[in-house]
Amino acid sequence: MESRKVREKFLHYFKDHGHEIVKSSSLVPKDDPTLLFTNAGMVQFKNLFLGLEKRSYIRAASSQKCVRAGGKHNDLDQVGYTNRHHTFFEMLGNFSFGDYFKEEAIDMAWELLTVEYGLPEEKLWVSIYKDDDEANKIWSQKIGLPHDKIIRFGEEDNFWSMGETGPCGPCSEIYIDQGPGIGCGKPTCKVGCDCDRYLEVWNLVFTQYNRETNGNLTPLPNPNIDTGMGLERLAAVLQGGYSNYDSDLFSDIISLTEEFAGSKFGQDKKNDISFKVIADHSRAVAFLIADGIMPSNEGRGYVLRRIIRRAIRYSQVLGLKGPFLHRLTDKVIDVMGHDYLELGQSRRFVDEVVINEEKRFEDTLFHGLSLLKEEMDGLRSKEKSIIPGSLVFRLYDTFGFPPDLVEDIAQEQGFRVDLGGFDQAMAEQRAASQRSWKGSGEEEIPEIYRMLDSRGLECKFLGYETLKARGKVISLLKVGDPLRRDSKEVNSAVRGEQVEIILDQSPFYSESGGQVGDTGWIGNDNLRIEVVDTIKYPTSLIIHKGKIIEGMISSGDIVEAMVDERRRRNIAHNHTATHLLQAALRETLGEHVKQAGSHVGSERMRFDFTHFAQIMPDRLKEIEMLVNLNIQKNYPVTTQIMPRDEAFKQEAIALFEERYGDQVRVVTIGDGLSKELCGGTHVTATGDIGVFFLVSEGAVASGIRRIEAFTGEGAIREIQKEMNNLKNISSLLKTTPDQLAKKVQHVIGDQKEKDRKIESLKARLLRKQSEDLINTVKEINGIRIISHEVTTANPKDLREFGDHLRDKLKSGIIVLGARGNGKVFLLCRVTPDLTDRFNAGKIIKDLSVLVGGKGGGKKDMAEGGGTKVSELKKALSKVYDIIEGI
Ligand code: ATP
Ligand code: MG
Repeated sequence: MESRKVREKFLHYFKDHGHEIVKSSSLVPKDDPTLLFTNAGMVQFKNLFLGLEKRSYIRAASSQKCVRAGGKHNDLDQVGYTNRHHTFFEMLGNFSFGDYFKEEAIDMAWELLTVEYGLPEEKLWVSIYKDDDEANKIWSQKIGLPHDKIIRFGEEDNFWSMGETGPCGPCSEIYIDQGPGIGCGKPTCKVGCDCDRYLEVWNLVFTQYNRETNGNLTPLPNPNIDTGMGLERLAAVLQGGYSNYDSDLFSDIISLTEEFAGSKFGQDKKNDISFKVIADHSRAVAFLIADGIMPSNEGRGYVLRRIIRRAIRYSQVLGLKGPFLHRLTDKVIDVMGHDYLELGQSRRFVDEVVINEEKRFEDTLFHGLSLLKEEMDGLRSKEKSIIPGSLVFRLYDTFGFPPDLVEDIAQEQGFRVDLGGFDQAMAEQRAASQRSWKGSGEEEIPEIYRMLDSRGLECKFLGYETLKARGKVISLLKVGDPLRRDSKEVNSAVRGEQVEIILDQSPFYSESGGQVGDTGWIGNDNLRIEVVDTIKYPTSLIIHKGKIIEGMISSGDIVEAMVDERRRRNIAHNHTATHLLQAALRETLGEHVKQAGSHVGSERMRFDFTHFAQIMPDRLKEIEMLVNLNIQKNYPVTTQIMPRDEAFKQEAIALFEERYGDQVRVVTIGDGLSKELCGGTHVTATGDIGVFFLVSEGAVASGIRRIEAFTGEGAIREIQKEMNNLKNISSLLKTTPDQLAKKVQHVIGDQKEKDRKIESLKARLLRKQSEDLINTVKEINGIRIISHEVTTANPKDLREFGDHLRDKLKSGIIVLGARGNGKVFLLCRVTPDLTDRFNAGKIIKDLSVLVGGKGGGKKDMAEGGGTKVSELKKALSKVYDIIEGI
């Protein structure tokens, strides 16, 4: 039975038994920041189990994407070493929220396994919680299972709790005996053994108690059922295999790996570990990225990075070379993309993220491995076997080298790793970075807002329909020191004071989704407040920030709130333009383009998106033109509130990081030219935008580009500014803008010509000056000497002068001095025939002292200088004496 069929059959069976089929939720848990990944089917139903939420159904079934690679449930280290553990797997589950209980749950599970899937009863075993006589009775009397096939386990294995307190209860697991040929083969092997023989396929949890703070268990009035069965395990068994990796879920992925490796799966124990790791990890990587997680150095992103790197490390055992993982993730999408739409739609993006990460790790691996090898060689020679935590940390910190990889390599070479030391180094760094983080102005939500929110204050947003509305002041805050954000609640405030106003309803849009907050006015007959910004906390508390220009305001007042209309219009132009831009980028560059951030202001807008290369100027022009054409077509822009699933079905674009509620707002341009989940304010037809003017494109982070642009009024102003600049430059150059380039070229040509003339004049001058200088030669003891000041203030010209004179003089000593900027430059040349008697370096050394400085050089050529400009003449006249004295 194909695994797809296995999944379908499960869901059908429970649908026929009155269950609502619920779509798998994201691997990123929506309501639970403490949970790293969705790790069981019940995660998306947690609030139902806790009684915090009610839905239209009381029984449900799902096939849930799960990752167990971090946090409380972490099977990462086991992957590759067992045939049944994955980082990513699908959990089939049925749930009862206070509806049916133990008997029905066991009944259905047994019927599904033995009748529907046709598993032989004699191979099935079950475990129950040691005190759960009720379950024992159902299994033995109702189902008719022999007593010796019902095993009792303790609290550790078969009692499940959500936390220290809250819902909990016994569980019952169903095992399949794969036969004595599988697993450890020890005579002691039995249900619960660590090996693969007795395979746990299904766990039924009977949530029947509430654990109180004192530890007492009280029965729940409406007990729940929560079950989980690994699809990969069940599929493998139904396909006659003894390992998850033998199922059709993995076969294509493993075949491709075999092709790369040039060797077969199932022929060598060590290689097989790698085959399994790679197959498992490529699935996890593809699904995690498709759910919006990017490789990084913390949290979920770090787990993803570790999984990618672990796959690459194990690939080396198979001798795989170059980036290969992205081709396997692509294969994963072939296999699973139909059943999980978000995966199917992310093909190019997954590909690019993975290949990028693979290349990055290549360098890391190379440097890290050689460092580690050096260290191990050193330790070995000292007969030590523990790799210090500080090194593991350094590998991690500077090379991004995952500690578990170090551990793997260490183990292979007979070393152990001081993980305690690593944790300590890590904690120290974390504390240090947290300190610097606080200092860097990271915003904390002021206590006062939290307090107001907990009081249940809410402001209804009217700004999609109107820009002017009456509202009642439900809270008034006076701002003390704006830098310290120490607002206090007051009853009233007067002229000149900075205030924050919360109304029961308001047309002001508060900063969110990249769109800036509105500005405007709040007032009545005797009151005028200028609103300079609007923010929101956390979702329904709209806070107007402003200053009282006139009058006073009190809590309970009825006021008129008026948004600055023109500014709001400009913001709308920019916001709709970001949607048009995103559509244009996707059309010209490809579907991998996804929004990574944005800023929508009244003047300009900024749009960050995923793309892996610079966009060439011609391409940018094309994109700019496409946006403008779509503006001219004056497409209608409509908004619609719809269920989240419906929006996804219509393939509306959603932001990666964002989590959405059950109902979402979808902004559509034209007949599906663009469809995005968005809460912002928009124009009603694209023509309103007027014009779109793209001013820059560049990189902001690896794989993320940024485009900046202006629209409407802002664009016109920007174009005017640039035109004005051109006009000013043209008039300075006495030409017109269209002749400007030609003119500038001309000026540059002119300049070059002049430089050339200057050079030749300088050379002529030099020749002339040196001819004059030749006439000043004095002979002392048969040595011809020139010592003279010349008019140049740069050492390079002085050197040229010296060379020239030396050529002319043939034999002799030349000393030249020059002055400029309050400094003296000196140069001495001795012709080669005299260097055995005279040393230019020494001569300059003595002379430099006379002008208050230093100097030196070689025998034939030396330079120096000083600051006593007035002493230059005297020093030069001393030259003859110095030489005579040698
Ligand atoms: P095991 O002891 O085999 O690790 P578990 O006790 O952790 O399993 P549960 O938390 O009860 O498992 O999860 C319910 C079912 O999900 C299991 O019976 C099994 O079929 C499946 N499952 C759990 N962990 C994994 C995993 N890492 N890979 C694949 N399937 C898994
Ligand atoms: Mg487990």
